[in-house]
Amino acid sequence: MRIVVLAGGIGGARFLLGVRAYARDVGAEVTAVVNVGDDLWLHGLKICPDLDSVMYTLGGGADPERGWGRVGESWTVKQELAAYGAQPTWFGLGDKDIATHLVRSTMLNGGYPLSAVTEALASRWEPGVRLLPATDDRLETHAVVEDDQGQRAIHFQEWWVRYRADIATHRFVFVGAETAKPAPGVLDAIASADLVLVAPSNPVVSVAPVLAVPGLREAVVDGPAPVVGVSPIIGGAPVRGMADRCLAVLGAECSAAGVGRLYGGRASGGLLDGWLVAEEDAGTVVPEVTVRAVPLRMTDEAATAAMVRAAVELT
Ligand code: GDP
Ligand code: CA
Repeated sequence: MRIVVLAGGIGGARFLLGVRAYARDVGAEVTAVVNVGDDLWLHGLKICPDLDSVMYTLGGGADPERGWGRVGESWTVKQELAAYGAQPTWFGLGDKDIATHLVRSTMLNGGYPLSAVTEALASRWEPGVRLLPATDDRLETHAVVEDDQGQRAIHFQEWWVRYRADIATHRFVFVGAETAKPAPGVLDAIASADLVLVAPSNPVVSVAPVLAVPGLREAVVDGPAPVVGVSPIIGGAPVRGMADRCLAVLGAECSAAGVGRLYGGRASGGLLDGWLVAEEDAGTVVPEVTVRAVPLRMTDEAATAAMVRAAVELT
């Protein structure tokens, strides 16, 4: 069995722990297609928050409290940059994490594509699943915001980290999406998949930018594999993070039903055949989608693997 997972950062990473556990049980192969819309260059370093969340989590090196970066981190470089007054100060990287970024940036500057760099980094972490960026090309999520400085587009990381999503926002734009190509291996993985899972990641700024790569959404929607999504919203609120603010920008309801409708039923041009919602959201209806309510809290690997099993059984 071959499973493809569309994933963002922490929600994607924790879900993939369960997918990997399930896959080990049944002998399946897993490919994660990961969002790059959050990526940015800072201090000469290429930062890939979602790829790193997935790589560190699956490799056992993630900080579970902070939700990003390395466990047991120190912050000397950050303090030294602050002493120089180096901008921006709202984004920090730990010292261990910086080593990852030095390797990545050196390889990218040497001409290697992000997919090859990701493979090289993953050879250390042995995540047990194949990690692919959605694209090797520039695809950046920007938020079109408005305040007393007027209307402007800011990088998603500035919107999320600096403004904590607390600024009037008109829309999100995926800069570069029109000309981006799926990374090598992405379309083949989707075409040969037996199941496509949409992780309980942020639908607006994690999953949507993956699907915005031309040809990627079409490959999933027109492909042979059933598509099952997992709701990141439980009882009308995100489990963690600010997906509610992102959904509000789109005018979408922050509920399991609202996100299900946003993805839409595959039979009517949308994405999903199946939609897993939490037990709290039993009774959720999404037109032309098979909905099932199961426990959706990713408290440990076994609980998450049970979610994956329920997704497989839905197809
Ligand atoms: P990010 O890129 O680091 O923001 O992470 P993702 O986009 O992959 O995931 C963020 C989403 O994960 C949030 O909207 C959360 O609601 C969701 N999430 C986090 N923990 C859980 C959980 O235990 N269960 C479910 N169903 N969703 C979760
Ligand atoms: Ca992210």
